[in-house]
Amino acid sequence: KITMTPNFIQNMIEEDLKNGKYTEGIHTRFPPEPNGYLHIGHAKSICLNFGLAEYNHGLCNLRFDDTNPTKEDTEYVDSIQEDIRWLGFSWGNRKFYASDYFDKLYDFAVTLIKKGLAYVDDLSAEEIKAYRGTLTEPGKESPYRNRSVEANLDLFARMKAGEFADGEKVLRAKIDMASPNLVMRDTVIYRIAHTKHHRTGDKWCIYPMYDFAHPLSDAIEGITHSVCTLEFEEHRPFYDWLLDSLDFDPNTRPRQIEFARLNLTNTVTSKRKLRQLVEEGYVRGWDDPRMPTISGLRRRGYTPASIRNFCREIGVAKADSIVDVSMLEHEVRADLNENADRVMAVLHPLKIVITNYPEDKEEWLLADNNPVHGGHRFVPFSRTLYIEQEDFMEEPPKKYFRLKPGGEVRLKHAYIIKCEEVIKDEAGHVVELHCTADLDSKTGGKTAGRKVKGTIHWVAEKTALKAEVRLYDYLIETDESGNVPKDFIAALNKDSLEVIDNALVEPSVKLTAAGTHYQFLRVGYFVVDPDTTPDHLVFNRVVGLRDSWAK
Ligand code: ATP
Ligand code: MG
Ligand code: MG
Repeated sequence: KITMTPNFIQNMIEEDLKNGKYTEGIHTRFPPEPNGYLHIGHAKSICLNFGLAEYNHGLCNLRFDDTNPTKEDTEYVDSIQEDIRWLGFSWGNRKFYASDYFDKLYDFAVTLIKKGLAYVDDLSAEEIKAYRGTLTEPGKESPYRNRSVEANLDLFARMKAGEFADGEKVLRAKIDMASPNLVMRDTVIYRIAHTKHHRTGDKWCIYPMYDFAHPLSDAIEGITHSVCTLEFEEHRPFYDWLLDSLDFDPNTRPRQIEFARLNLTNTVTSKRKLRQLVEEGYVRGWDDPRMPTISGLRRRGYTPASIRNFCREIGVAKADSIVDVSMLEHEVRADLNENADRVMAVLHPLKIVITNYPEDKEEWLLADNNPVHGGHRFVPFSRTLYIEQEDFMEEPPKKYFRLKPGGEVRLKHAYIIKCEEVIKDEAGHVVELHCTADLDSKTGGKTAGRKVKGTIHWVAEKTALKAEVRLYDYLIETDESGNVPKDFIAALNKDSLEVIDNALVEPSVKLTAAGTHYQFLRVGYFVVDPDTTPDHLVFNRVVGLRDSWAK
């Protein structure tokens, strides 16, 4: 059922399996930090990690990487699980928290100290940074580097006991201050933070750093392939050093494999920046339909399948690139083209009266719902209708095949009509059209086969439902190369939301649940927004009809 585009990580796995390296199968993990909502970049990592496991009949853990209590919260733990489930992946009973390993991690740190491979440093964060050196200059050893094992054990225990203030001391790995790799210059592995943790409360006032917690969490869980993004490439030697130093079996211990993170045009994929948009009120929340968060995409009307297909199409690469956001739009359009029912809605109504159609008559015309899955419904027709303002032009250019004075057009699923008279207000604006219908021209009628060039959509006045329609554009403008500028706030698109208050929709959409998709014929794909109430319909435009993505 699951397909996999060939990629270098899958090749490595196949190689490992062929060599009999992991007799118990392969084991991946998705390790979000619960400090924000998941975004489309995370979707790539989720599809990859869960996908690799499923494809290779292995396991994939969900692990909350919750080692930094200052920014983490259970709100994020909950939203992350909801989003992964919605995407269609399941961790079964394999949900873990790095914070569950705090005791074990502490013991591992003590072991390192005992081996002479870690020390307590009194330098401040700024001093540590200054001592670290640069790519061209070796670092300088801390004056505290050669403390005895006993002194280090004592100080580390006192750090844990809460004797020191935040920043007063840290625990560092003791490796090589002259290493060409800056991470190997005695990276910090524990710091003091007198902060309540969302799971362990006040039990701890020292917390392990990512570089320390991550490889060990992988090893504790029996992860075989620890897949992460490219920025961790220079951390890999430390990953290996740590597990080797703690005597994990080099043949079965996890290994880190890096792939290129997803970058999208017109999109920021950094939790920090997304949080800024939320906190400073540029959007309504994490699930604003303009946000590239999973919850925002869901509310916008993206389907799980469209996101999974997108992740499969972009593949897995070893080098950074920027993917055109139109490729994501292409996937949701393809999905909805197949699966969304068609209905008629008029966003900018223009009244028309069919003067030869009886005042009190109402008929219900058969209309097809979907070209792939079929299905039918009835749409009401009557004397007074609305069409789209832009489907009429008083002085049209030559190849205008919609309605014009004296011209004919077919009303979708109904009759051919002819524009007989244009009614204007005092300011000269067109406010109403008087038309006649060829009453034999609907399906089955004598003149049903008569050809007219244009077909337009419409709704009947009496039965139409009023709706609020929200049209979205990109939140952020990017330059021609697709890069989001550093100052992304300055690049915010001020017209990213347009609200139409008085759209009209055919009555078949009445009482549909939030999340239901439609194609508004000739207009675009729409989804019912959760703001909808029984007497106030709200639709979000997912994406327009035209595909700008060329394969
Ligand atoms: P951010 O920079 O947005 O805070 P993060 O990497 O710090 O993201 P985590 O919660 O630590 O967020 O990410 C969980 C997993 O998702 C990691 O393995 C990370 O590499 C991966 N990931 C995050 N962003 C992307 C992206 N843009 N493309 C692919 N994978 C990503
Ligand atoms: Mg992270
Ligand atoms: Mg981060």
